Amino acid sequence: MKSLRHISLLLFIVFTGDSFASKDDKAFQEQSMLSVLYVQTATEFAANNIQTYANAKDALLKGLEDSSWTAALEQVDNFEDKSPAIILDVDETVLDNSNFQARTILSGLSYPNGWAEWVNESNAGAVEGVHDFLHFADKKGVKIYYLTNRLESFREATKKNILKLGLPFEDDAVLLMRSEENLRDKTDRRKNIANENRIVLIIGDQLTDFISTKEAYVFHTERKKLAKKYSDLWGTKWFLITNPTYGRWELSIYEDYPSSEKEAIETRKKTLIQ
Ligand SMILES: [Mg+2]
Repeated sequence: MKSLRHISLLLFIVFTGDSFASKDDKAFQEQSMLSVLYVQTATEFAANNIQTYANAKDALLKGLEDSSWTAALEQVDNFEDKSPAIILDVDETVLDNSNFQARTILSGLSYPNGWAEWVNESNAGAVEGVHDFLHFADKKGVKIYYLTNRLESFREATKKNILKLGLPFEDDAVLLMRSEENLRDKTDRRKNIANENRIVLIIGDQLTDFISTKEAYVFHTERKKLAKKYSDLWGTKWFLITNPTYGRWELSIYEDYPSSEKEAIETRKKTLIQ
């Protein structure tokens, strides 16, 4: 019997720093094969990311002209005179870790097996469109924050990867990691950025890059309503990179943590709408 939590957290926990060492069923790992292939081979995926970052440029220009504009729910007053900044998540927003995911499929071993090695290679590619966008923002004098749930111990490797890709990196203060004791919730770290800056845009691949875990960690039927709730923000101040390969979206289909990979697959099938 696999660990209760292991199965359902397998895909969602990936890249966040939690530890669920276990030997996996290769067939289960292979369930993510098409989504990883989509990320790695589909020009539609690349085009979508270019499109997202192109639209983010236009939004940035609008936001820079309007001092009453903020993208952060945490930023409520006295921000008009603060200098402009943007917040980007790192994994699957800036860095493309699909090679690591491909390795998990081919080896049949899931996260955290091989994750530290992958991160320490500092060899992740850039998500399409992000290089151009970030240099555009940098030239406009916008401060660029990277807000990630990678653990603090991966700071140097993460920084090295960002620099290797030629992306703007003002100083160590713009890279906000997750300390061992910190929760996954990014709200407080967004607040800290908002104390010093006017947050013009937020870009991420998970709902929690924009809102609290409390709000985002709900069953999928409730969770889906959050897209509409924030419809005024998507595409204007919030930009979402599609991630079909892992995330809380997957965990949210389970009412209870599945007790086995078999049970997880059963729930996946039951959740399909026909
Ligand atoms: Mg991410």
